[in-house]
Amino acid sequence: MSNFNWCHGPSCHTYVTTDRVRGTKGSKVLRTRKIKQNQWNSRSIWGYFCGMSCYNDFAKEYMAEIIRIAPRLEPLETPINDPKRTEHEGWGGRKYYSTEITKVDNESNVG
Ligand SMILES: [Zn+2]
Repeated sequence: MSNFNWCHGPSCHTYVTTDRVRGTKGSKVLRTRKIKQNQWNSRSIWGYFCGMSCYNDFAKEYMAEIIRIAPRLEPLETPINDPKRTEHEGWGGRKYYSTEITKVDNESNVG
């Protein structure tokens, strides 16, 4: 198993930074960044992308293909208890309200 990945950003090799410059004098190139794998990045997007720009470039270019992996054709829903609106008194006696939204605890409602 290799201990690095090449950045998967489709335009990584076009961004002008000194750390991307490779090659010998007279035949220099901007090269895709190499991402060393470690315990912090190896199971996250940062093991495959050198930064947010490359991650976004990848998402933009391959959006249709990515969506086909798990298309969402209907909305999902999370059951909640009726929202509870509470009145509070702030500075100078001004009233303000907060709304508490809690998810239905399905595990304790079983049976
Ligand atoms: Zn990159």
